[in-house]
Amino acid sequence: MDRQFDLLLRGGRVIDPATGHDGIADVAVTDGRITAIGPSLPPAAAQVIDATGKIVIAGMIDTHAHIYQHVTGKFGLNADMVGIQSGVTTVVDQGGPSCMTIPGFRHFVVEPSQTRVLCFISAYLVGGLEGHLYPALYGPDQVDVKATIRAGRANADIVRGVKAHAEIGGASRWGLEVIKLGKRISSELGVPLYIHLGQIWPVKDGATIDPDEVVRELMPLMEPGDVLAHPFTRHPGGFVSTATGEVHPVVWAALDRGVTVDVGHGSHFSFEMARRTLAAGIRPHTLGADMHGYNVRVPGEGDTAKSDNPFVGVTPFNLTHAMTELMTLGIPLPEIVATVTSNAAKMLKMEDSIGSLQPGREADISVLDLLHGRFTLSDNSGETVIAPDLLTPAFAIRAGKVMQSDSALIPPPALLAA
Ligand SMILES: [Zn+2]
Repeated sequence: MDRQFDLLLRGGRVIDPATGHDGIADVAVTDGRITAIGPSLPPAAAQVIDATGKIVIAGMIDTHAHIYQHVTGKFGLNADMVGIQSGVTTVVDQGGPSCMTIPGFRHFVVEPSQTRVLCFISAYLVGGLEGHLYPALYGPDQVDVKATIRAGRANADIVRGVKAHAEIGGASRWGLEVIKLGKRISSELGVPLYIHLGQIWPVKDGATIDPDEVVRELMPLMEPGDVLAHPFTRHPGGFVSTATGEVHPVVWAALDRGVTVDVGHGSHFSFEMARRTLAAGIRPHTLGADMHGYNVRVPGEGDTAKSDNPFVGVTPFNLTHAMTELMTLGIPLPEIVATVTSNAAKMLKMEDSIGSLQPGREADISVLDLLHGRFTLSDNSGETVIAPDLLTPAFAIRAGKVMQSDSALIPPPALLAA
């Protein structure tokens, strides 16, 4: 039989929310592109991979990564460890590079990585050094609107948005001035503003501040397409009002206008807050693992100075682990797949090229194992949940090339077994 295809992925459950496809199908790849999707394609391929029992989706997009390795101190992880070696074909650094440091990001991270690397440029001159350990570096005097717009324009191929923080420590010092400056940058660039919610910095000495008031002031500044991150945060200043224990009414108004929600898992994630937020009817649009050097254990590296960081976390997680948690919370799998594929591509305004499995497109594919059993999931608030299913990456295809998911950052399923 003629070799019609270079590669054939046989018999997986193909889930592609962009086209509405969900069912068992084969996916064929030729010359680095998807050439056919359908049931029982002829096995005329140089390489045939049995994907029976596996989930086949467009290459996963992690919308919240910290991968400006070395430059952001212990904060930045290796891009390929978070990306292609974890089954993720596109990673978006949230606020690592700034107008001053983006040339280094391109040279040292974007260009040498096998993973597709993009970023939301930091609104602050310093970017995300050491995970924002020094509040004095993050005030409005440390923002250069014009220089950041210039840097965003000069790097439009990789700058897909702007990152800033709305949280009570900063608000006790400067109000929401930084957010207003970040909004000017994002409006000029025509890209979304991504806002971190939940406390980072200690409140200024002698000041008192109402976390709910920060959220109330923030929401009218958010425009359609802008992104609110960490809705399930265990820190004060998230979607759930400290006063009422319920989702702020102002959050609804913003979501109705087309503001979207990114989970931004990190060490913030709390099952309790997630339950309350989901029960209120809020659905995450994108996922974002938010892994960094303080909330994951990088093998071979010590934990020195970890406890100094406001984002320190101890429970192992990654992007597929966060997907597992959403499944456990009752969100249907196709909806979860959308958060890491089609929705994420829309957030990046790249839905015409990534985030969907369609003949003619680059072969950018993630293949996941769906394991059944009893798995222990835990959050940093000390809650433990038993999950009957666990998603974990098997391999990915990037530019037509098969790459095994062997990152040391993937939580080993055997360790999670209850
Ligand atoms: Zn983050």
